Amino acid sequence: MNSTYLFIATGITISILIGYSRYSIKKSRSKVEPHRPFPHQWRSLLMQHVAFYNRLNPLEKTRFENRVHVFLLNVQIVGIGTEITHLDRILIASGAIIPIFGFDSWHYSNLKVIEVHPDKFLIPNTQQYANGLVGWGKMEGKVKLSRKALVHGFYDNNDQKNVAIHEFVHILDMQDGSIDGKLELIMKEIDIKPWLQIIHTKMNAIHVGNSSIRDYGSTSHAEFLAVVSEFFFESPDKMKAEHPELYQKLDQFYNPKHPQKNLPKEQSKKESKDPREVKSALMN
Ligand SMILES: [Zn+2]
Repeated sequence: MNSTYLFIATGITISILIGYSRYSIKKSRSKVEPHRPFPHQWRSLLMQHVAFYNRLNPLEKTRFENRVHVFLLNVQIVGIGTEITHLDRILIASGAIIPIFGFDSWHYSNLKVIEVHPDKFLIPNTQQYANGLVGWGKMEGKVKLSRKALVHGFYDNNDQKNVAIHEFVHILDMQDGSIDGKLELIMKEIDIKPWLQIIHTKMNAIHVGNSSIRDYGSTSHAEFLAVVSEFFFESPDKMKAEHPELYQKLDQFYNPKHPQKNLPKEQSKKESKDPREVKSALMN
């Protein structure tokens, strides 16, 4: 396949996907496992910077540390014009593990290199800058991130923005062969239609300026999933209060072991049907 450059620009965060590929996130026997205890320094960084980690119980924390450790032993993180720090490693690994933490033993087996740029970087062959990028073709197995955006994503826990989680959710979305906001290897068949209905309603609410979900989520179904996942993992209580049905769906998808309660139906205002059914701008 040709490397088709498809991108969507937005004000502050520009998230880019170049085509798509199947980054395999699955049980794998080929991964390197840790032979040493989780470093104290890394634990301190998790405690200082990763709110998701701090919300876990002690057993889950240990499990999270192990997942982070395995991730870091199996990918290469390189600085482009900058030195990689322990904080970079911990934040990237956290962004990767958070979306798949509910799935035991899942592993990014095709992910090879993560490039860290000091700030926004130019998207190859374009004049556009990005904070995050996931690629295929020549870029397969590679993720690029802006450190500034990476750190900010974990620093501000109230803006529902986290570029690392965003990009790794795109990788998760690719698993079924299409980047379309549907996690078909995770969602049950019966859940797909209601999920698309929620996407439609919520995107319309964003379009008419009546949503606490940031505007970029209305770009496409794929961006909607990535954006609301940032929201879900960063501010679960806020999402539960403001978007209970959406929260319930995401909890069901990302935490299949959680007992699912029926939350009250959202009193969503009836938005008129938007004829601009948003076809994913990420697809050819
Ligand atoms: Zn994106």
